[in-house]
Amino acid sequence: MSVLTRNEAQTRAQLLDVHRYTVGLDLTTGEATFDSTTAIRFTARTAGDTFVEIKPETLRSLSLDGQPLDPERLDGNRYPLDSLTAGPHELTVAATMRYSRTGEGMHRFTDPADGETYVYTQLFMEDVQRVFAAFDQPDLKSVFDLTVTTPTGWTVLGNGVSTQAADGRWHIAPTPPISTYLVAVAAGPWHSVTTQHAGLPFGIHCRRSLAPHLDADADEILDITRACYDRYHEKFDEPYPFDSYDQAFVPEFNAGAMENPGLVTFRDEFVYRSAVTDTERQTRAMVVAHEMAHMWFGDLVTLTWWDDIWLNESFAEYMGYQTLTEATRFTDTWTDFGVARKGWGYDADQRPSTHPVAPDPDAVPDTASALLNFDGISYAKGASALRQLVAWLGEKDFLAGINTHFSRHKFANATLADFIDNLATATDRDVHTWADAWLRTTGVDTLTAHVETSGHSWNLTVDRAGDRPHRVTVGTYDHSLDTHTGTDQLTLRDRFDIDIPQDGTPVTQPGHRPDLVVLNDHDLTYAKIRLDPGSWDTALTHLSGIPDPLTRALVWNTARDMVRDGELHPTVHLTAARTHLPYETDLALVQGVLGFAATQIADRYLPPQDRPTALATLTSLCRDLLRRTEGLTAKDWEQAPGTTTPGSPDPGLRLIAVRHFIDAATQPDAIQDWLREGTVPGGPELDAELRWRILTRLAVLGATDETAIAHELDKDPSATGQEGAARCRAALPTAEAKAAAWQAMFTDDTLSNYLFTATAQGFWQPGQSELLHPYVARYYPDAIALAARRGPAIAEAAGRHAFPAHAVDPDSIRLGEQALTDPALTPALRRKLTDQLDDLRRALAVRDAH
Ligand SMILES: [Zn+2]
Repeated sequence: MSVLTRNEAQTRAQLLDVHRYTVGLDLTTGEATFDSTTAIRFTARTAGDTFVEIKPETLRSLSLDGQPLDPERLDGNRYPLDSLTAGPHELTVAATMRYSRTGEGMHRFTDPADGETYVYTQLFMEDVQRVFAAFDQPDLKSVFDLTVTTPTGWTVLGNGVSTQAADGRWHIAPTPPISTYLVAVAAGPWHSVTTQHAGLPFGIHCRRSLAPHLDADADEILDITRACYDRYHEKFDEPYPFDSYDQAFVPEFNAGAMENPGLVTFRDEFVYRSAVTDTERQTRAMVVAHEMAHMWFGDLVTLTWWDDIWLNESFAEYMGYQTLTEATRFTDTWTDFGVARKGWGYDADQRPSTHPVAPDPDAVPDTASALLNFDGISYAKGASALRQLVAWLGEKDFLAGINTHFSRHKFANATLADFIDNLATATDRDVHTWADAWLRTTGVDTLTAHVETSGHSWNLTVDRAGDRPHRVTVGTYDHSLDTHTGTDQLTLRDRFDIDIPQDGTPVTQPGHRPDLVVLNDHDLTYAKIRLDPGSWDTALTHLSGIPDPLTRALVWNTARDMVRDGELHPTVHLTAARTHLPYETDLALVQGVLGFAATQIADRYLPPQDRPTALATLTSLCRDLLRRTEGLTAKDWEQAPGTTTPGSPDPGLRLIAVRHFIDAATQPDAIQDWLREGTVPGGPELDAELRWRILTRLAVLGATDETAIAHELDKDPSATGQEGAARCRAALPTAEAKAAAWQAMFTDDTLSNYLFTATAQGFWQPGQSELLHPYVARYYPDAIALAARRGPAIAEAAGRHAFPAHAVDPDSIRLGEQALTDPALTPALRRKLTDQLDDLRRALAVRDAH
C-alpha cells in the first residue's frame, strides 16, 4: 500500500476536477465482506496520467468511459489511469470490500447483549479506500450520492437526509461538495430520538441495547445541541451548510468523535450506562460543541493538505470550550481545559517529538506523517494559542476575520496563509508576526515572577525564557480571616493586564506587597509559570482558599510541572493534594489532581518502595472525601444533573472518591465488602461500572478468580461487560493469566480494538513487576510485528495501553531505544514509543532528582 504524498496530491489537484460520486453499498452479502460500486464523474483539465485509490478484498471490474479496464493492474491501493485525455470522464469500479474490527473503514460490530449487528464508517485520512474507490485527498471535493442496501429492519444514516426507497434499500440525499474523508454511513437497527430545530431534522442514535440510557439523557444532549447551533449562528455569518444534523453514538469507536457533515459519530461510552460526574457530562457537551464547530471549520472550509490539521482541531477545541461557557449551564469549562487538556499540550511540547503548532509543509510530506500530528500540540497547545490570540485581538476582530475566511473559501479549501491573511483584514495588529512567533516555533516559554517591596509600593518584574509575546492577567490576593468560621481565606485585591516582554521597567503597584501574586491569572496564555517564593509559600499552604477555580487550576498546573521538572518533590505535591482536595469544590480539579497523583506520582515518580505509603495517602484522602459527602439521599443521586444545592454534598465528588478509593486500595477487605453488599456504605449503590472496577482491583490484588469474573459477566453480558472481564482476567497475578492475555493481544488478529485495549489495561500493573518482568523485553518485537500486521489504530493502542509504562529503569529504556532502530517499525508505533520512552526517562530523572 502506498501513502499519498503532498507532491502527488498537488499534481493530481491540478489535473482533475471531480464532480460526482455515485456509490452503491450492499451490506447483505455476509459477515466478512460487502459489495461496493462507484461511478466517478470528473474532468481532466489536460491530458495526463494519474491514479484512483481503493483497498478491496477483490477488485471485480472497472471501466473508463464505458471501456473495460483490467482489474489485475491494481498496484497495492492504486489503480493507474494512464494517458487520460483532456475533458470529461466517467470511471466505474465494482469491488468486494472487507469489514473491519479495528474501527477503521467500515467497522462491523455484533452486540453481545442482544445479537444485533451495526456497521459504521470512519473514513478519516485515507480509509475511504476501504469502502469505495476515490481520488482520496481533501482538496478534491465532490458531490456524493449514496445508495445503501441493508438487511430488513435496519436504518441507514448518512451525510444527507436518508429515505427508504424499497425494503432495505436506502438513498441518502446528495451532499454539497465535501472531501472524501468526510463521507459517512452508519447502518443497523438503531434506536433514534428525532426532533426539528431551525427547520432542520435533528436526531440522536445509539444501538438498541443502550436505548434507555440514551432516552434518559436525550433532552440534555439535544438541549446542548440546539444551544450550540444557535450560538454558532450568532457568531458565524454563514448558515449551517448541510441538510440535517444527526449524532450517532457508535460501538468500538477509536476517537472521541468524528465531524462527518450532517452525521457526527461519537464513541458510545458517551451514552452513560453507569453513574458519571457532572464534569463527564461537561466533556460530552464539549465534544458536541467541538464537532459542531467543525461543520464550518473543517467541513465547509477544509484544509488543502494535512499540514493544517492543527487549524481544524485547535479551532474546534477553542470554539467547543468557549461556546459551552457562553451558551450552556457549563460556565466553567476553561478550568477543565486548564486541568485536563493543557497538561497534554505542555507534556507533548517538551518531548523530542514536539513540532510547531503549524508544521512546515515539508514536515508533513505524506498521510502517514500527518497521522502523527493528532497530539497535544495540535489540540491543546493550538487552542491555547488561539485563546491568547483572541485575548490580544479582541473577540470582535477575531470573529470578523473568521467570517471573511468562511465567505472566501466556503465549499472549498484553504491554508494557514489564507487564514492569517483573512484575520489580517479585520485588525490593525500584525497577525503575521504573531503567527510566526506562536505557530512556527516549538517549546513552552517559562514566565517567572519577581516581586519586591519599594517604600509604599511594590514592583513586579517578569523573566521570560522563550521568545513569544504574551498578554497576561496578574491577580493579587491578600489573607483575610473569615470571622464566622475562623478560617484563613485569600481575597482578590486586584487584577491587571501586562504585556510580556515588559518595556524594561517593572510594574509598580501601590500598597504593601500582596500575599499572593498570580501570573497568568485567568490562564489566558500558554506558558510555564513560576511564582515568586513568597507567593509560592502562600499558594501551597492556602491553595483551597483561592477564590476562583481557574486560578487554582493554574497553581495546580504549576505544581504539576515543577514535579515533572524535578523542582518539587513528588511527596510535597501529594501532601498538598491531601491537604487541599478535601475542600475543593470544582470536580474537574479534584479529578485532575487525583489522577496525576495516582497514575504519575504513586505509580511512576516515586520509587516502588514508597508506593504503598503514597497509596495510603490517597486512600485516606478518599476516605476524607467520603466523610465530607455523607448524608446523600437516594433522591440526591437521581436528581437532574447540575442541580445540586450549593453547600450540600455533591454526588459527583463522592463518585470520584469512590472510584479512586477502589483504584488505590492495597487491601481487599473494604471493597470486597462493598461488592458483597452491592453498595458503598452511605451510597452509591454499585452500578455495572463500579462493580467491574472493584473486581479489576480485586484481580490485581489476587483476591478474586475466574469463577467470580465469569459470574459477573453473566450478570452483565454487554460489550462493556466483555471488556470488564478481559481487563480483570489480564490483571490476575498469575503466570497463566498473563500468558493468556499476551497471547490474545499479540497473536489473535481478530481481537477488536476495544477488547485489545481492555486486555492491555489489565495486563500491566505497577505492583506486579516481578511477574511482568519477562514481558518488558518481549513487548518490543511483538508490538512491532503487531503494528505492521494490524495497522495504525491497533499500533496506537499497542503503544499507548500495552506499553510497559511502569518499568522505570535504565534497562527498560535501553531496550526501547534499541527497538527504535528496528527498520520494521511503523510510523504510528515509532511515534508512540518515542513519547513513551521520553516519559520513562523523565520519571527516572524525577526519581534521581531527589
Ligand atoms: Zn476535532
